[in-house]
Amino acid sequence: MSLPRYPVDVDGLMSAGAEGIAAIRAGLEAKKQQSRAAKHRCDYCGKEDDDKKPLQACTGCRTVRYCNKTCQTAHYRVAHKRDCSSFSETPLCRPFNPKLILAGCSYPEVPIFAKAHVDGMGCWVSPSGSIDCSLAALPGSRIPSRNRDNMSMEQLLAALPGAPGRFLDIRVMVQNRVRRKGAPPMVVVGKCIIAISSARGTPQIIEGNLPGEVNVKLQDWNGSVTPLFLKLTHYNGKEVKSGERLAALKDDKTTSVVLHQGDFVIFELQYRCGGPNISRDFEAWELLDHIFVPSVPYDPAFSGPWSELLPRAVEKDDSVCEVRAKVSQELVDRWFADYKQKGQDAYIRSHYGEARAQMIAAGNNALGQHMAMMMDMAMGGGLGR
Ligand SMILES: [Zn+2]
Ligand SMILES: [Zn+2]
Repeated sequence: MSLPRYPVDVDGLMSAGAEGIAAIRAGLEAKKQQSRAAKHRCDYCGKEDDDKKPLQACTGCRTVRYCNKTCQTAHYRVAHKRDCSSFSETPLCRPFNPKLILAGCSYPEVPIFAKAHVDGMGCWVSPSGSIDCSLAALPGSRIPSRNRDNMSMEQLLAALPGAPGRFLDIRVMVQNRVRRKGAPPMVVVGKCIIAISSARGTPQIIEGNLPGEVNVKLQDWNGSVTPLFLKLTHYNGKEVKSGERLAALKDDKTTSVVLHQGDFVIFELQYRCGGPNISRDFEAWELLDHIFVPSVPYDPAFSGPWSELLPRAVEKDDSVCEVRAKVSQELVDRWFADYKQKGQDAYIRSHYGEARAQMIAAGNNALGQHMAMMMDMAMGGGLGR
């Protein structure tokens, strides 16, 4: 039986019944209390955030906050100068915080499986799969509020003969920390963020090829896949609501975003990963070598299509900044170890907490009871038990 994908889908929640709702309520309350307790402090003097005069983030990296210019200058001299351009920390962002471990969990909410930076452009890659580690059955099936102009379910099914459960969800955060004076902003094209397989994983990546799928061939690359679905979910830490007209978004079709110094975005991407025999997130991750994130200096005179960035990257255009974030198989292993060694329940408990595990169990119970009832009715037993 398939479980509700993460984050919790409302239908799944409603079907979980009162027991499940009580469990999730308790979980949400714990989460709220935890984030309330974690008030921000000035990274130099330690003063707590003040609602009247909130702390200000460093505009170069947005990883630290200060109460005023004096604290910022002092901290820059003693410690922050090196860190500011190092990409060792992600910019401050609640939905993408690798340091946050929720109460009752043994793993961070956002594990980083890959990260890299080149010439002031950097990225972090995190899994975004389902709570039960199953790959999405259809592209876009987990990404909420996707573009309504996209293919209908029927069209998708027609385009994808057989072999469901092969789509890997990932989240990629990209930030511009170019410090050169007078440097132009950079454009990141979501459609050009490519998943590159390892030499070992290439046969399976190619085995799963879809009709008409774009495959980039380069000497030093193995199999590679372009995202089948992508969504810009956050811009400078704020959620991008569906239908919102974001000035930095230059092209909807390719999801091309302009990033000035310090700006950062989060993309949710989905790749067709592997052949018919791959059905779990970790099986897909094991095929990957790195995530390729190209960007180019923003040219206001260039009107697109921004997808031209991809062939330009392939031709090794000098102006293309190529960030290759190598997937750490060690971190992938550690993250999925509970699932592989102790099973799904243990994995859900250690990664999402007891409340969520109970909700899933309650949901399964509710579904199980419902099924039993249907069976009873089908067999003429009715409800009078
Ligand atoms: Zn301070
Ligand atoms: Zn900084």
